[in-house]
Amino acid sequence: MSRQGAQVTVQVQAYNFFVNGKWTAGTSSETFDVRNPATGETIGRIPRAGKEDVYEAVEVARKAFEAPAWHEMEPTKRGKILMQIASLMRQNFDEVAKLETLNQGKPIRESKADVAWAIRAFEYWGGAADKIQGETIPVTPSRLTYTLREPLGVTAHIIPWNYPLALATRSLAPALAAGNSIIAKPAELTPLTLLRVAEYAQKSGLPDGVLNIITGSGAVAGRTLVSHSDIDGITFTGSTETGKQIMETAAKSVTPVLLELGGKNPNIILPDADLQRAVQMAKYAIFTNAGQMCWAGSRLLLHDEIYDRFLAELKKQTELIKIGPGVDERTELGPMVSEDQRERVLGYIKSGTEDGARLLTGGQAPDEPALTKGYFMKPTIFTDVKTTMKIGCEEIFGPVLAVFRFSSVDEAVSLANETQFGLYAGVWTNNLKLAQQLIRQIQAGVVAVNDYLVAYPQTPFGGYKDSGIGYESGLQAIGHYTRIKSVTVNIT
Ligand code: NAD
Repeated sequence: MSRQGAQVTVQVQAYNFFVNGKWTAGTSSETFDVRNPATGETIGRIPRAGKEDVYEAVEVARKAFEAPAWHEMEPTKRGKILMQIASLMRQNFDEVAKLETLNQGKPIRESKADVAWAIRAFEYWGGAADKIQGETIPVTPSRLTYTLREPLGVTAHIIPWNYPLALATRSLAPALAAGNSIIAKPAELTPLTLLRVAEYAQKSGLPDGVLNIITGSGAVAGRTLVSHSDIDGITFTGSTETGKQIMETAAKSVTPVLLELGGKNPNIILPDADLQRAVQMAKYAIFTNAGQMCWAGSRLLLHDEIYDRFLAELKKQTELIKIGPGVDERTELGPMVSEDQRERVLGYIKSGTEDGARLLTGGQAPDEPALTKGYFMKPTIFTDVKTTMKIGCEEIFGPVLAVFRFSSVDEAVSLANETQFGLYAGVWTNNLKLAQQLIRQIQAGVVAVNDYLVAYPQTPFGGYKDSGIGYESGLQAIGHYTRIKSVTVNIT
């Protein structure tokens, strides 16, 4: 890799995937290109794993799960391995962040935040590994009754492309802490940083076969993995549509699923809020990661009283956003992950205009010559949106904000809840009583008051309604990676 000013040129690198502690191209001779979304250049080639490769990975993971090296490892030692992975990631912090930006497109500042999050998640679960415990149950003096928390066995992890490292870590770290063996499949577009995790895990002393990373398509590798009869648990983060298919597949073998799916999240601004900060955060809530976020504040709900001035300021600030390649430290809005994704977003913009919404700003790709090769989009705001319009109810997954107006708190709540999704919500008010009312009434798994895009490895994250099942992060997440054995010992 060489650097000239803000331009980074990268040679096309051939990658392999990781099974049983070895880097392999598997049985398939097919590859797919990994691109830099800021330039459209191919930066890597990666094997497209076939069914046989998945079967092998599952067999390897099963053997590794049953082997004494993992099965009998003291939880404290397992935790130390996770801590060591975090430490290696920290030592390579800038490089990993740059790789994430080159592969996914997001501004380097955001990639750094994601790497920091991943490090923290490994540390959190490293610390938790020897605290995953059962309980004693006082039934009767003649019986000792207690629960054991046991690992599930072999877990499958399907990862999306919007936070390739952070979301992989979010599920891998607790699964490893609990003592499972893993097969993870990154998204086709963004496999590179997860392969780094495999490298650090091996260097940290994780036994071979415990963590396997398969690169391949959703249609073949992903589907084969989630339908394999020897998988004991599935964690899927991705679109609601794919999540539903996976749940149906999992039902056939009664395999538990943890689904983290889409969102169309309301960000509600009340007149008494700190409006200066609310404007900044409304912008941040939708334009971070080019809007490619399940938890994007993609529906801005503005009270009548502040509607005009809030929008005027938001428009002004939005038009000042610096668009550019993520590797440029000054960039605030990077490219979309792929040409297909940009096309999809442009389709939504067309439908918004046709359905009668008003395009306040953006709505097209930027025309600066330096940006024409990448998959850039201007930050876009629509007003006069209705929840019946496609742009008002579907997840766009791009830098497109839909603005709604309300005149009472009841109206805000009903607008907020008028969606199939229920992942995240923002509430902006200094009135504590009102905030409490909204927290209770909004149907979302996560609510942020006077804040947006906040999630820690310590705090549960999951959706209501079509946004998913179960919770990642926080100690609650361990429930998904373990099962309970209930024991009664007759001591008479
Ligand atoms: P996607 O559903 O297309 O793909 C996600 C992953 O699933 C990829 O690795 C893909 O290869 C794989 N896949 C596709 N079809 C499959 C199948 N039939 N069987 C098994 N695996 C399959 O989603 P995407 O476009 O990569 O990601 C964007 C979506 O993810 C958005 O809808 C977003 O809201 C959601 N998301 C949710 C969260 C959350 O925590 N709730 C976080 C990030 C992204």
